[in-house]
Amino acid sequence: MADVVVVGSGFFGLTVAEQLASRYGVKVMLIDRRPHIGGNAYSEPEPETGIEVHTYGTHLFHTSNERVWEYVNRFTAFTNYVHRVYTTHQGEVFPMPINLGTINQFFRSAYGPEAARALIKEQAAELGGKEPANLDEQGVNLIGRPLYEAFIKGYTQKQWQTDPKDLPASVISRLPVRYTYDNRYFNDTYEGLPVDGYAAWLTRMADHKNIEVRLDTDFFDASQPFSKAAVVGQVPVIYTGAVDRYFDYSEGDLSWRTIDFEQEVLPVGDFQGTSVMNYADPDIPYTRILEFRHLHPERDYPKDKTVVVKEYSRFATRDDEPYYPVNTAADRERLATYRDLMTGEKDVFFGGRLGTYQYLDMHMAIGSALSMVDNKLAPMFGAEGSR
Ligand code: FAD
Ligand code: UDP
Repeated sequence: MADVVVVGSGFFGLTVAEQLASRYGVKVMLIDRRPHIGGNAYSEPEPETGIEVHTYGTHLFHTSNERVWEYVNRFTAFTNYVHRVYTTHQGEVFPMPINLGTINQFFRSAYGPEAARALIKEQAAELGGKEPANLDEQGVNLIGRPLYEAFIKGYTQKQWQTDPKDLPASVISRLPVRYTYDNRYFNDTYEGLPVDGYAAWLTRMADHKNIEVRLDTDFFDASQPFSKAAVVGQVPVIYTGAVDRYFDYSEGDLSWRTIDFEQEVLPVGDFQGTSVMNYADPDIPYTRILEFRHLHPERDYPKDKTVVVKEYSRFATRDDEPYYPVNTAADRERLATYRDLMTGEKDVFFGGRLGTYQYLDMHMAIGSALSMVDNKLAPMFGAEGSR
């Protein structure tokens, strides 16, 4: 038997496994129910074109956390890719996130920063200075009603199929609003894509003599030797699957969104001229179209073919892959009861996007895994290098 079992080989599970194995000499059994490691960050070349496709949607790496940046650079170099997103609204393309370019194009104006700020302030005044209590109010507060209704409301309804009044304000707080022409999608200090792809990066993290990986292995399949029934109580378990599934949904289902990815190879060298085009209007059924070649302009991809993926968002059933925690008030109540149950599970450590029911980016999953190793796991295994 290994010293610990890590359930799920996404960035959270991989970081825990790598750190325990390399710093503390811990023997790790890393299981995943999918046929590949890496969780949602996984990518592979599309066979006909060789274009690297991010299997679970475009993954952009960005962080301002020095420790995370130093850590990830041990496994991969990064390109100088900078993410920019555009959105189509009523047949016209605008830059996202909302910036002075978006504002002036939308209002057919030539405002400077101060005049634009004054306009948005006036349009946002309908809230009367009240603290925004949900996504709808946060949207109006940030950009005023006309821009909110054009670029956020319809997209959000498609993405979440939940009334924006029932969604937490935090969902869009991560989208910056800028009174300059800077249309970078992220504000972080560091940004880039792994030079030789995500799969190579993820594989290097798992490549250690103390880590054994078992794929196609479900923690809840009692017939396999590292199942919940076989290991909990025997060795420490780091669990990064869905928290409600762990407790057999005893406190009710937490709501999740899943995405259907519709992939096509098109006989053109360039379909949309950019990596991500959002579709803001509710009458277009998909939320965005991804074109993967644009993530790596430095690569020698075929000039007569391209790979595009349309994303359709819907509620996840228990049989779907859960991607986005919806996080309504009812979900938060259920989560609190699951948290009580978690504290009763001795030597089971819940982490990652699914295990904590949180909207974590890659750098956040890695950062919280590093902290879990330092604060909770390392104390069980003696001094660094002692084993
Ligand atoms: P995951 O990657 O979900 O890994 C969990 C693993 O656990 C999976 O491999 C799963 O198969 C396994 N598992 C679950 N249940 C079981 C079980 N019962 N038995 C065995 N194994 C199990 N982040 C960014 O930083 N930038 C982005 O641009 C970005 N874009 C995203 C786009 C989409 C569509 C999605 C869904 C996420 C995006 N993310 C992005 C977030 C990123 O994917 C996560 O931060 C990261 O994957 C979190 O890692 P994790 O280990 O917590 O979870
Ligand atoms: N959003 C929007 N319009 C856009 C882009 C984003 O309304 O064109 C809102 C939407 O609610 C979305 C949230 O902002 O869920 C976060 O967007 P982001 O692109 O960060 O989401 P992700 O890449 O995680 O799907």
